[in-house]
Amino acid sequence: MPARSARAVPADVADPGLLPVGALPGVGPALAEALARLGLERVQDLWFHLPLRYEDRTRITMIGDLRPGERAQVLGTVEAVERGFRYRPQLKVAVGDDSRQTLLLRFFHFHRAQAEQLKPGLRLLCYGEARLGAQGLEMVHPQYQRVAESATVAMDERLSPVYPTTEGLGQKRLAGVIDKALALLPADAELELIPPELCARHGLTSLREALLYAHRPPPDAALAELVAGRHPAQQRLAFEELLTQHLSLKRMRAAVRRRRAPVLGGDGALRARLLANLPFALTGAQQRVAAEVIDDLAQSRPMLRLVQGDVGSGKTVVAALAALAAVEAGYQVALMAPTELLAEQHLRNFRHWLEPLGVAVEWLAGKQQGRARQQALARVAEGAPVVVGTHALMQEGVRFARLGLAIVDEQHRFGVQQRLELRDKGADHAREYVPHQLVLTATPIPRTLAMSAYADLDVSAIDELPPGRRPVQTVAVSNARRAEVIGRIHAACADGRQAYWVCTLIEESEQLRAQAAEVAHAELSAALAGCRVGLVHGRMKAREKQAVMDAFKAGELSVLVATTVIEVGVDVPNASLMVIENSERLGLAQLHQLRGRVGRGAVASNCVLLYQPPLGPLARERLNVMRETCDGFRIAEKDLELRGPGEVLGTRQTGQLAFRVADLTRDAHLLPAVQQVGAAMLRSRPHAAERLIERWIGGAARFVHA
Ligand code: ADP
Ligand code: MG
Repeated sequence: MPARSARAVPADVADPGLLPVGALPGVGPALAEALARLGLERVQDLWFHLPLRYEDRTRITMIGDLRPGERAQVLGTVEAVERGFRYRPQLKVAVGDDSRQTLLLRFFHFHRAQAEQLKPGLRLLCYGEARLGAQGLEMVHPQYQRVAESATVAMDERLSPVYPTTEGLGQKRLAGVIDKALALLPADAELELIPPELCARHGLTSLREALLYAHRPPPDAALAELVAGRHPAQQRLAFEELLTQHLSLKRMRAAVRRRRAPVLGGDGALRARLLANLPFALTGAQQRVAAEVIDDLAQSRPMLRLVQGDVGSGKTVVAALAALAAVEAGYQVALMAPTELLAEQHLRNFRHWLEPLGVAVEWLAGKQQGRARQQALARVAEGAPVVVGTHALMQEGVRFARLGLAIVDEQHRFGVQQRLELRDKGADHAREYVPHQLVLTATPIPRTLAMSAYADLDVSAIDELPPGRRPVQTVAVSNARRAEVIGRIHAACADGRQAYWVCTLIEESEQLRAQAAEVAHAELSAALAGCRVGLVHGRMKAREKQAVMDAFKAGELSVLVATTVIEVGVDVPNASLMVIENSERLGLAQLHQLRGRVGRGAVASNCVLLYQPPLGPLARERLNVMRETCDGFRIAEKDLELRGPGEVLGTRQTGQLAFRVADLTRDAHLLPAVQQVGAAMLRSRPHAAERLIERWIGGAARFVHA
């Protein structure tokens, strides 16, 4: 672990935010420990522990006005109580009010005393989410309190915040500690880390007020705005959070760039031979991007470069040129792809291109077992020049002798974390160097997102397709006209064209997907007399898949029925027709990737988007976008608009972009200003930038080092 002294924030006794939570009145060791589990160790951690949402207990909703899915407060009288034990203990309490409707309260965990207390006639003030159950409206595990017969109900005056919390630490207790922390909030002049002139320029309001408002909204707060996260106080905090993320990625980048990388400045002899052997000349864009990469590799600072290029723009050959630069300098190269099919395709391309030059290409994939794997591992450890594989490249037991360059294809499917792991693989702690890193992506990332999620990378764009490509003519056709579409394939195949038929059942299981493809395969084989129809899906062995792909590539098959395993990277230039079944269920990015499999040869290509009517508004819009444009950038922008950034980046599961208040779709308009403020702060206030990261990312950042 690199020394942290350079970034440590000097203890500032005048700053109450840096006090340990234990310094607050009433916070003993047990509470401090519960808070620590939430990453809340210092007073400022509490200031920035923001509500997840708000509960409205300022009014009472009549049971008759409850709407499923809404959280509400109800005042009702118990009408009946039932304890059941059939499958598991259950307590059911029916309450009613003047609206003469009944609400069922359901408890699966309860104490006997609790059950015995609840008697018909008792008045209860309940708060929870109403939902539609088998017996009408119900609330599962609502919060409730008894209200004495004659007592007037004390209602809240303001919205109650709901905080992220942990077992054994209730909302009330947590809110109480946060109150105590908020009492120590200093005046804006001390709290604010963004320089005042920048705040003024970008219209940022007071941080102190924003925090107080978000934690303790006043009684007259604009509820709808708050719930939507669009209140100026929340926007102020979202700005600061986005800024912090931006600064932290920049810092990660700076930390990597401070380390050394091997200088990969070969003489270019291998590269020249590859170019001479290629059946085509590089496009201008490929030449420019390759030159940028080669130039980066010749530096002693690690390259961190994202090469963005639409489907079919020819990224692979740029990667091969980079690989040869590393090999010329005597270093190893790892190329990692997200799926086995894509990795296999890279393996074939690389072997085809590099082996004639005397450069061996190794293979490491998850399915590989036993001796083959042991031998491959041994050769990699001894310094085999090029290794292609899946994420198996990052597994335990894979050791490189001297990794100089890590290439990651189709980045959007890997998280930032995986990217860092591959880089760490190559880190040579004895010699203190890290490999250069090249990331390839076919999904153009909208600029706003790139600025935020990829602030740690330089970006090059291959913004030109090889000559002779023609846009794919795209039509959307209802499944009612399926027979007609099959007839069209028949005619095209009789003309010597080749077609993909893509089955897109969105099922979790590879088995169901495979079954759907088998059904389509049988249907088409029967309907297309005289045409040879092949089948490829994810449940087949790599060897079987390959045999089918080879037969298709060689023209022995006219039609290839496939699951979306062909989505990424499959390259058969003669295939000029694609039918995508159930296209209404796919997202834009995936449709674009799929369609990118055709339109690679010189003939005009067609894509038929088969859909199952009726189309919903969103699906209709997606299919329209696909018909109107083949431009990956426009499609990506549209995708962001329709689906939101988590999906676009494919990082939802990894939680890379989990924010407390910010939401990239809602707050994307803040990003240009975030970037400007970030650049200015790194230039003139690096210390304040560090403190901002400490403040927002705090505990987590203390463990992350690039
Ligand atoms: P992608 O950017 O989608 O990964 P590939 O690298 O797979 O694209 O290239 C797509 C196809 O275009 C391949 O068949 C490749 O050999 C071919 N190709 C790449 N560059 C050129 C070029 N400059 N001229 C003609 N064909 C090219
Ligand atoms: Mg590719």
